[in-house]
Amino acid sequence: MFENAGRTEISSLGEFGLITHLSKNFTIQNNTQLGIGDDAAVIEPTQGLHTLVSTDLLVEGVHFDLSYFPMKHLGYKAVIANLSDIYAMNGKPKQITVSLALSSRFSLEAVEELYAGIQLACERYQVDLIGGDTSTSKQGLMISITAIGEANPTEITYRSGAKVNDLLVVTGDLGGAYCGYQLLEREKRVYLDNPSVQPDLAGFDYIIERQLKPEARKDIYELLKTLQIKPSAMIDISDGLASECFHLGKASNVGFNLYEEKIPIDPTTYNFARELDLDPTLCALSGGEDYELLLTISQNDYKKLENHPDFTIIGYASEAAEGMHLITKSGNKHALKAQGWTAF
Ligand code: ADP
Ligand code: MG
Repeated sequence: MFENAGRTEISSLGEFGLITHLSKNFTIQNNTQLGIGDDAAVIEPTQGLHTLVSTDLLVEGVHFDLSYFPMKHLGYKAVIANLSDIYAMNGKPKQITVSLALSSRFSLEAVEELYAGIQLACERYQVDLIGGDTSTSKQGLMISITAIGEANPTEITYRSGAKVNDLLVVTGDLGGAYCGYQLLEREKRVYLDNPSVQPDLAGFDYIIERQLKPEARKDIYELLKTLQIKPSAMIDISDGLASECFHLGKASNVGFNLYEEKIPIDPTTYNFARELDLDPTLCALSGGEDYELLLTISQNDYKKLENHPDFTIIGYASEAAEGMHLITKSGNKHALKAQGWTAF
């Protein structure tokens, strides 16, 4: 994909030349005293706030496939995945570090694209790139990002705070990123079988975007403040709704009852899943990478988000001993599994 563009070997710049080149267009806008260039970055903490730190590691061939994932999108998504974790703690991301391992297959132009995506995310989400590390790899690309954020200690939301009878709430809609992934994989197979066939992606922009260009719910972080809601527990949906329910349930020592008919699924997701003979509900339960937020709120807060278009109440917390259940559209109650549910 990028091998065709003008190709400059990374080795021609040296490690520090590369970093200087890649970071020259980034600006510092937060409480960063010193960014890239010394042995460590320097951050001035905001009085009274706690620091949140989260890291992710992405490995080529395991977490992403460069045959259809553009480098710019990869850079953007890698940042988003980390920012999402900070928002899930009800915190505000302020800085990131980016560490890379690159094989000689990657040109300077390819890494520039990656950093263009990282920069776009930094600008949109107002975070500072403050450092990282760079290494060669024998094979493939690895990218690890650490996000640093801040939150008022009284506002931090843990996975462990859900109480019995709390409402279970999800933002946005689910299953889209997974269906986008299925679509891209399908078109890749078609292409490998016959490179002259044009990809058939028409009408599926939404799910492709959910896969290739997800966003983190900064708007929800802000909205919760406006609505004066402090969730009792919160987690971001990176591995699928079912798996995140288990995380919340385990940490909070509660069970959950989920209503299938309430699970928000976009029509594009629904139609594509049906086309592939997949159950749209299963895509929402088990498909990952939507980067929506799953939260529990006290029933006292119900009025504050009732009918709000960004939130859907999908269930409630029960006693831990009751376990995790999905109440299907036909009214049957199934035990939920972390990978979906035990179907029949
Ligand atoms: P050291 O040898 O002390 O680890 P480096 O030469 O690796 O220092 O890094 C020099 C500076 O460049 C540091 O500020 C470091 O944080 C930054 N840096 C290194 N790699 C990256 C990268 N991939 N992205 C952003 N900053 C980087
Ligand atoms: Mg280093």
